[in-house]
Amino acid sequence: LMLLTRKLIEIRSILLSIGEEAGLTLPSIVVVGSQSSGKSSVLEAIVGREFLPKGDNMVTRRPIELTLIHTPATPSNPRPTTFAEFPSLGPGHITDFGLVQNTLVDLNLSVPAEQCVSDSPIQLRIHSPHVPDLSLVDLPGYVQVASMDQPEELKDKIAALCDKYIRSPNIILAVCSADVDLANSPALRAAKKVDPLGMRTIGVVTKMDLVEPAQGAAILSNNRYPLALGYVGVVCRAAKQHSRSLLKRSNGASDEGSLVGPIRAQEEAFFGGNGEAFSREGLQVGTDTLKKRLMHVLEESMASSLHSISNAVALELEEATYQFKVQYNDRTISAESYVAETLDLLKARIGALGKSFAKKDVRRLLKSSLDEQVLDLLASQYWIDQRAPELGTLANDRSVSPEELDVYWHRKLDALSSSLTKSGVGRAATQLVVDAIRARLATLAREEPLLYHPDAADRIAATADAILRERFTLTSDQVENSVKPFKYEVEVEGREWEHGRLEAVGLLERELGMCDSALAKIRDAVGGRKLRGAMEYVAEIEEKERRRKERRREARAAGQEDWDELEEDLADPTRPAFNPALLAKAREAMFLSSRSSILRLRVLALKSRRCKAGPEQKAFCPEAFLNVVADKLSSTAVQFINIELLVEFFYQFPRDLDNRLSHDLDRAEVLRFARENPVIAQHLALQDRKEKLELVADKLDSLVKLQRDKAQQQNPR
Ligand code: GDP
Repeated sequence: LMLLTRKLIEIRSILLSIGEEAGLTLPSIVVVGSQSSGKSSVLEAIVGREFLPKGDNMVTRRPIELTLIHTPATPSNPRPTTFAEFPSLGPGHITDFGLVQNTLVDLNLSVPAEQCVSDSPIQLRIHSPHVPDLSLVDLPGYVQVASMDQPEELKDKIAALCDKYIRSPNIILAVCSADVDLANSPALRAAKKVDPLGMRTIGVVTKMDLVEPAQGAAILSNNRYPLALGYVGVVCRAAKQHSRSLLKRSNGASDEGSLVGPIRAQEEAFFGGNGEAFSREGLQVGTDTLKKRLMHVLEESMASSLHSISNAVALELEEATYQFKVQYNDRTISAESYVAETLDLLKARIGALGKSFAKKDVRRLLKSSLDEQVLDLLASQYWIDQRAPELGTLANDRSVSPEELDVYWHRKLDALSSSLTKSGVGRAATQLVVDAIRARLATLAREEPLLYHPDAADRIAATADAILRERFTLTSDQVENSVKPFKYEVEVEGREWEHGRLEAVGLLERELGMCDSALAKIRDAVGGRKLRGAMEYVAEIEEKERRRKERRREARAAGQEDWDELEEDLADPTRPAFNPALLAKAREAMFLSSRSSILRLRVLALKSRRCKAGPEQKAFCPEAFLNVVADKLSSTAVQFINIELLVEFFYQFPRDLDNRLSHDLDRAEVLRFARENPVIAQHLALQDRKEKLELVADKLDSLVKLQRDKAQQQNPR
């Protein structure tokens, strides 16, 4: 039968890792008792080691799922060592029980103080030749009187936590102190609520040495609170003469169950010395008796659970298998393969991204940015020039040669060209490409599969940024250097000129189209007549204003400082009143229509025979010339951006990603990453559940067979 308990304890931990569904739990022994009832001492006596956190402050904030695994001496291992392990902290055999104690303190303190207690159990396994196969749960002690540092809330939370654990099929180990009236034991009271007949409750009466033997014996045989499994009296901690330091010294030094010595001796001496009181029929005393009792009770309880748990597991497995077939067509996946696939996908996307940054694409990007810059320059320097129409007329009048053209226009063109070439093309172009790469990566981060992995996406962005940052200055300096000659002179060939001229026509026509449609929009919104009226009105005001300024200037020139302003009444009573919003629209419309007419003139000029003639006519056709300059700047810049930035970046980036995303991940991180994707998380969860259920079902099957064989041997037909 021993084997059964052991196997079922093993199965119990697997089931625990699947989840806490009803029907899928195997019994464990749950230890409850009020604070200072001696709960820890009993547990330590069972284990034979001092390993639980002590202290006045309540440090037990989480249940401890304690699994004891008996490791018998074998010929190959005549002196098995005693060691502990925390499965949640990974594999590791701890032989220093002081370390176990400290680890438990840390794990308890991981629950924030304001939360008081937590449901999430600490798993602890202890392997030893001195322990029986047992599965125990240590719970925070009941608080009896609320106080400053142990508020009412804590009291209730602990009671609720205990209530959760003392449910069937668990066995309740109710720890009470002999020197406290059993009627006051919160452990017994709670047990009675869920197990009124006392069928699965064992009473442990501690501190038997603190009461008279006769009184102690009376407590153990008490029938005020009868328990089918009875009471066991123990002495787990030697009374005053044995100080803690003595216990400490004996702890951990040898591999024998170190607490056992002095305390067990004390206990034996106590019960042996009071033989006449405790030898009565049916009285159970001593830690060894308790251990045997627990083993027996757990065994019976496990055995009786065997069939029901096998059935429950079989049912769950059937369901899981069905779901796995239906949802995933029995396809198994692994977190590792998901990570590898994701990385491959990512690298493929980055490869595609690299291709979309071919030279011609980058050149187009740079050119269109420079085109905008040129248009801005033209708008602010040329088109608002009062003399711009005059230049347009000259384009069609071939009697004036470029040499005869007013030097004003030559200077203007030089100024525009140099403000374009000296505008910091190196930096701007590099920034433009860097921004474009970053924007594309940001889009990538918002799509599957990165969508599910914000941390990874951040890391990818940081990896990209690191490379871009490293290349930035070098690239921008190189580009700036390469465009240097254009700052002094731009040589233009006939073919380039024609190309630039056509591009300029295209750009201006686009501008003209936008201008006209904006104008039409205003006209539609306001109404044609109303707009015309308002525009006339604005023109009139502006004209009057202009005249007023002129008169004032003349008056000043004539020394008439005190020229009296002639108040002219602008309001005409026969006109409708115009509201400020309408006037603003009218002003906008006037601007647009004058811009539209200058653009029309400029398009005509660019299409004139003079502009078609060639680059020597550039002063007449600044738009064409600046377009050629922009074209030269962008095609020169792109060479260096390509070499210094793009080639480097798209070479380095996937390699860095490999290092930062896959090589550095340990198993837990791989799992966490895979589970960030909800689809994968669900798939993995079901797969894991199914696999564990299969394992458990297998183990249970062989146990059931074993039991049947045994039964047959015992009762052969
Ligand atoms: P817990 O708070 O329920 O875990 O109780 P502890 O195991 O820490 O014990 C509380 C106090 O009772 C400690 O000072 C122990 O030394 C003492 N104690 C525990 N068991 C016995 C016992 O059998 N006899 C005596 N005299 N003292 C005990």
